[in-house]
Amino acid sequence: MKLHILGCGDAFGNGGRNQSGYLVEAADRLFLMDCGPTTLLAMKKAGFDPRRLDVVFLSHLHGDHFGGLPFFFISYLYENPRDKPLHIAGPPGSEEKVGELYRLMYGGDLPPTRFHILQPDRADLILGIHVLPFRVPHQVHAISLGLKISYEEKQILFSGDSAWTDLFLSHARGVDLFLCECSFYEQDSANHLNYKTLRENLTRLECQKLVLTHLGEEMLRRREELEATCAEDGMVIEL
Ligand SMILES: [Zn+2]
Ligand SMILES: [Zn+2]
Repeated sequence: MKLHILGCGDAFGNGGRNQSGYLVEAADRLFLMDCGPTTLLAMKKAGFDPRRLDVVFLSHLHGDHFGGLPFFFISYLYENPRDKPLHIAGPPGSEEKVGELYRLMYGGDLPPTRFHILQPDRADLILGIHVLPFRVPHQVHAISLGLKISYEEKQILFSGDSAWTDLFLSHARGVDLFLCECSFYEQDSANHLNYKTLRENLTRLECQKLVLTHLGEEMLRRREELEATCAEDGMVIEL
């Protein structure tokens, strides 16, 4: 199984990086974790036919994480019709917000799509892919999720956007990859993680591999000081 980093930037396009999009390529499944506005173009750049996409998992409903879906929809409607519906699994409100965004941008109906609403701490199985969503501290009213995804005996923990939570310790235990947002180096934030906090917890994280993503300006500027791997657009991680 491979993870293709399609976009590891923050919402502001810092470093010229694409917005959130992580493509998992398994033997018989292709799925995304998050779908920022740049995801379709990055997926094509990486050589993937968008029709092959089976599922999109959404961590939360901020534009840099789900705003790319309408481009997939128009592609399926006008250029690359699909044989099967696209599955979209996201937090409560996903169906309404994704529909609203599409209608605002292009109008009309979505191509055939199946929505799955992920509830915190309720495991789900979508096209054979196990997902365990859990609530992370990012949005105040809406629900932001961290996602633990298991397929082909591999496990990926994706933090979504989140400040530090000790939940990462229990969920990261034994996973093949923890893809963890780290927007800042030391700037404090109630909604995002900084490297200083992460560093204090590094020895407590029992994952096989840790890769930092959703990198902001401060992180990019101080990249040389990090004792952790940072994601790059186009990076491929073999699991
Ligand atoms: Zn974000
Ligand atoms: Zn966010």
